[in-house]
Amino acid sequence: MLHTLTALAGRVVDTVYPPRCLACTAATDAARGLCPACWADTHFIAGTACRKCGVPLVGDAGAEDVCESCARHPPAWDRGAAALLYAGAGRRMVLALKHGDRLDMVRPLAAWMARAGRTLLAEADVVAPVPLHWRRLVTRRYNQSAELARRLGRDAGRPVVPDLLARRRATSPQSGGRDGRAANQAGAFAIAPRHAGLVAGKRVLLVDDVLTSGATLSACADTLRAAGAAGVDALALARVAFEDSLGL
Ligand SMILES: [Zn+2]
Ligand SMILES: [Zn+2]
Repeated sequence: MLHTLTALAGRVVDTVYPPRCLACTAATDAARGLCPACWADTHFIAGTACRKCGVPLVGDAGAEDVCESCARHPPAWDRGAAALLYAGAGRRMVLALKHGDRLDMVRPLAAWMARAGRTLLAEADVVAPVPLHWRRLVTRRYNQSAELARRLGRDAGRPVVPDLLARRRATSPQSGGRDGRAANQAGAFAIAPRHAGLVAGKRVLLVDDVLTSGATLSACADTLRAAGAAGVDALALARVAFEDSLGL
């Protein structure tokens, strides 16, 4: 009886709420997918990418597979990857996850990240998100990076510690310039005291929704290294890149 009712309820829900595109309101026939227009407007990062920040490399990347920006200002983490570019439908999905109370998006987005960061995930001893300050957590209700990290770890069978890192103080994302951002982030993070023993000798995979300048991830990586981490990698859902440098 209960089974019948549950099955019936499932059918009713499917009828009332047909699967929606992750990036717009169009109905799609594929559950947890994109409509054809948004699919065409999503720039998945495939092929050669910077092994530090995940930005697609065009033209002669050289033997190092590191983009110009990472060569000039090496980030504090070892290896990094991102699933898609922060542009078009990719940008809309990031914003919907961040501000739109769309926890239903976590599973499919994490699946794209897992593909982009296969090696990083497989070699991670601990998966941890970039933390939100608690004041932002109150207004947003959830930390989108923590939700992505949880899903990634669960699907890959890697341990996740959602509160490994804590913000010491709120940072202003508006402070200008690379140096300003770096100074703003220095000392902004700490290992949560109850997890102090979890980091030494471990390879930590940091998870964030968007990778922009990398200042936040670098500050987190510095904090983990100071606590004895053997290695720190970074996996983002979306990478911000200048469109004119990518020929989009
Ligand atoms: Zn769509
Ligand atoms: Zn790079």
